[in-house]
Amino acid sequence: MTVYLVGAGPGDPALLTMRGAEVLAGADVVVYDRLSVASLLELAPAEAERISVGKQPGGPRTSQEDINALLVARGRTGNQVVRLKGGDPFVFARGGEEAAALAAAGVSFEIVPGITSAIAVPAYAGIPVTMRYSSTSFTVVTGHEDPAKVEGSVNWEAVAALGGTVVVLMGAARCRTICDRLITAGLAPDTPAAAVQWGTRPNQRTLRATLATLAELDPQPPATIVFGEVAASDLAWFENRPLFGRRIVVTRAQPQASVLAGDLRRRGAEAIELPVISFQPPEDLDRLIRAAAEAGSYHWVVLTSPTGVARFFEHLRDARSLGGVKVAAIGPGTAAALAERNVVADLVPKQYVAESLLEAMPDGPGRVLIPRAETARDVLPEGLAAAGWDVDVVPAYRTVAPASDPAAAALLADAEVITFTSSSTVTNFLDSYGADAVPEVVATIGPITTATARNRGLQVVVEATEHTVDSLVAALEDFFTR
Ligand code: SAH
Repeated sequence: MTVYLVGAGPGDPALLTMRGAEVLAGADVVVYDRLSVASLLELAPAEAERISVGKQPGGPRTSQEDINALLVARGRTGNQVVRLKGGDPFVFARGGEEAAALAAAGVSFEIVPGITSAIAVPAYAGIPVTMRYSSTSFTVVTGHEDPAKVEGSVNWEAVAALGGTVVVLMGAARCRTICDRLITAGLAPDTPAAAVQWGTRPNQRTLRATLATLAELDPQPPATIVFGEVAASDLAWFENRPLFGRRIVVTRAQPQASVLAGDLRRRGAEAIELPVISFQPPEDLDRLIRAAAEAGSYHWVVLTSPTGVARFFEHLRDARSLGGVKVAAIGPGTAAALAERNVVADLVPKQYVAESLLEAMPDGPGRVLIPRAETARDVLPEGLAAAGWDVDVVPAYRTVAPASDPAAAALLADAEVITFTSSSTVTNFLDSYGADAVPEVVATIGPITTATARNRGLQVVVEATEHTVDSLVAALEDFFTR
């Protein structure tokens, strides 16, 4: 079948093209390099074979001939093969050689262009590669060739003479020689210069200097180096986001985790998803089924989590049975889960905890159904009973801690912040990974989670003011910008 040479972009996974995502989703085999972003590999089906051809630290590099042969061999088997390459596959990436090998072997191939680091990395550092009038061209050159060689293949004199912006890829290791060469070739030593390391990624770092001084800052690969007037511009938008570069662990369960992780990433953080909860059916599922069947016989149904809503509605055969029933939601997340099922909550308390819900509820008599997690606090049922209600607490799901994951544990070592969005995330995390694995800054969604964390010996320094993900993110932002 077809071999796709796909440009993965410079690092930010969101810079993959739609075509790239589409062919990855149908891949049988993905051939990738060392700098490939893990989350892009996840776009391939779980059962797809993943072959690394990158140079492992300390290990050998797969030769280009071997990569070509691999692509040809896999292409002939009828597999859909995706060759994932950094940036654009035809910009200093030997995609041309791979395509030629496929063409020579009669294997069909498609090129999926990517966003090249030559343009996107400067953009993420606030550097436009052209400017009207002042920078009317940009030249992209490889820094891989030895510029000191008399017969080097880059004509540095011509590059210097052209003026405009010069973008050097693969130039970090030879930065000093390149700068010297450009000065000898006639560029002014005080020409602005910038080296952007790990561009478009959470660990992006921009070094700014001049042609004469950049090498002193010792840029490290991977770096995109820019010379020219534009290199002085700092239209910062990426590195100055409030949580830029913070490594934050998200412990909540999927699918809610991705909402929090997405919010954090939009503010520049590197979110590490480490779900410590997964949801299972309750021990006694029949009770939930029966309660859902009799839903119409209750005066109130009280829902305390989006998962509770999901499980209850799974077993609610006919939405009309809720016609005469009032519905309470403990917070906006739960209310949103109800709204998704076209039910508008009659009551959402001011604070999103059981105590506040109790205050807001009218007194009984009547019947109240609470479908919720198998283990939960007694505050709500006891309070309602005290207010004259006849309360049925029905387990709708069980939270269990997934086995601890060694790869995740390694990521934890570099994390700066951990977020806890419920008491069970605290308990499960500590049970799986231990107190020593807790990053320096502990952030919780509210006082009850904080109390659980403190009981287990943790120091909580960030707490949301409202019991919501938005408020937790705002509290973190506040903490780090203070
Ligand atoms: N085909 C790629 C370039 C491959 S050459 C593209 O179009 O972007 C590899 C060089 O690209 C690196 O040495 C570095 O100069 C640059 N590069 C790739 N990713 C980068 C990143 N995240 N930040 C800065 N430079 C990067």
